[in-house]
Amino acid sequence: MTSRYNDLRLIGIAWRLDHLRWAESSNLDDVVRSSGACMTASSTAEPPCGDRPMTDAALAELLCAGCPVVDECLELELRTAGEDTFGVWGGLPEEDRRELHFHWRRRGERALDHEEGGSAG
Ligand code: SF4
Repeated sequence: MTSRYNDLRLIGIAWRLDHLRWAESSNLDDVVRSSGACMTASSTAEPPCGDRPMTDAALAELLCAGCPVVDECLELELRTAGEDTFGVWGGLPEEDRRELHFHWRRRGERALDHEEGGSAG
């Protein structure tokens, strides 16, 4: 995976999260706690990787696959932990979320620019 490809991928994720931009953090927290795939008791029974060591990226892909609240989880983690995010959340390893945080913060500026441009036109 090239760095350019990863940048574009993360920018795409930042755009995708726009639909949650105005969601209350407490609502995001509620939905992640109630519906997150890793929040159920059965998901903690066995480590999905067995005895083999896994990268965080592989663990994120495995742990979060099919989770119905990936976006909510990611949005909440970006808001609450920011650049200090750690571990696996929202289907991404921490390295990706730290890079995503930069693009995610810019989305607010992008929206503001758009609003300002819209009102001027
Ligand atoms: S996205 Fe991953 S870490 Fe977040 S609630 Fe779903 S399974 Fe858990």
